[in-house]
Amino acid sequence: MIDRFSSYSLLPHNTFGMDVKAAQFIEFTTVEDVISIAKELGGRKHLVIGGGSNLLFMGDYDGVVLHSAIKSVEVVGETDDSVSVRAGSGINWDEFVAYIVEQGWQGLENLSAIPGEVGASAVQNVGAYGVEAGDFIEKVEAISLVDATLKVFTKEECAYAYRDSIFKKSEKGKNVITHVIFKLNKKPDFVLSYGNLKEQCEAMGGVTAENIRKAVCATRAAKLPDPAELGSAGSFFMNPVVDAAKAEELKNIYPAMPVYPAPGGVKLSAGWLIDRCGWKERSAERVGVYRNQALVVVNLGGATGKDVIDFATRVQDSVKEKFGVEIFPEVNVID
Ligand SMILES: Cc1cc2nc3c(=O)[nH]c(=O)nc-3n(C[C@H](O)[C@H](O)[C@H](O)COP(=O)(O)OP(=O)(O)OC[C@H]3O[C@@H](n4cnc5c(N)ncnc54)[C@H](O)[C@@H]3O)c2cc1C
Repeated sequence: MIDRFSSYSLLPHNTFGMDVKAAQFIEFTTVEDVISIAKELGGRKHLVIGGGSNLLFMGDYDGVVLHSAIKSVEVVGETDDSVSVRAGSGINWDEFVAYIVEQGWQGLENLSAIPGEVGASAVQNVGAYGVEAGDFIEKVEAISLVDATLKVFTKEECAYAYRDSIFKKSEKGKNVITHVIFKLNKKPDFVLSYGNLKEQCEAMGGVTAENIRKAVCATRAAKLPDPAELGSAGSFFMNPVVDAAKAEELKNIYPAMPVYPAPGGVKLSAGWLIDRCGWKERSAERVGVYRNQALVVVNLGGATGKDVIDFATRVQDSVKEKFGVEIFPEVNVID
């Protein structure tokens, strides 16, 4: 089924809380719907959205916004150790994680309570507590908006990296993801290296996927703003990766600075760098950083996309000036 709307408010579709309108909004429920939409779209300006939890609208969107309401879940393969689950792109991500944990399958529990939908998890390679969605994605099914055909991307073709994938690079804006196939563990192989997940689980009676999920949900609720109360897109900036020499130089000056090994160098905490520039204490009129996590830029009420970008630029400049490190937005800026 295809639903079409004109001059459609995107307020319920972006967690930053921007009151902007899409010239056209189309929601679909089947792969066949997407094929017919792709055929009629021509060269028109378009944007595929999920929950709008990593988008920053700069104003009204004068194109076609496409939204998946494909919500099927099916098991498409099983071995003694793993199960492959094909999930519709329009399923709420956290409801999907809850379902997987309930079935006794493992892998996604650390990714509990991340806002958004299943389709975007494969674009963004969502990550938290040492786990990324791409670790468990086997294949991504999409309809090409270029020629209206089905394309199946293998895990390797998706080229997952820190908050990155082919869908943010050479395939950006060219596909509607319809389904994501996840290969999940049937036997425990938990990642407990971040924060005090292990201690939290032990206090709940032991390390299980259910307890990891509960611990992650509780920690996130305490640390991150609820989009229903305070607009944000979660982490506004990506954590920067610097070379070992730069990390050592900074560590000598700031011994308490957190550092993490990362592909291509050493990952720094953008939140820590922003906090040390004093941004928790000073905000702009309608924009600031969240009191419990400086990496999160929040809409204090009535902010526009321009207000957010102006504020973010000041934050970026201050980090560059104090630490000589460039930080870049994670959020997708939509003109
Ligand atoms: C409070 C808060 C906390 C957050 N915490 C985390 C966190 O811990 N880790 C993390 O990684 N992220 C986090 N985020 C960011 C966000 O939740 C993720 O980026 C999420 O994957 C976005 O999902 P979405 O459905 O809202 O996608 P949207 O924001 O709507 O879109 C994101 C991108 O995906 C594309 N897209 C969406 N659906 C499709 C589709 N079906 N086909 C093709 N392209 C598509 C869009 O075009 C866009 O480029 C947080 C956000 C908030 C507000």
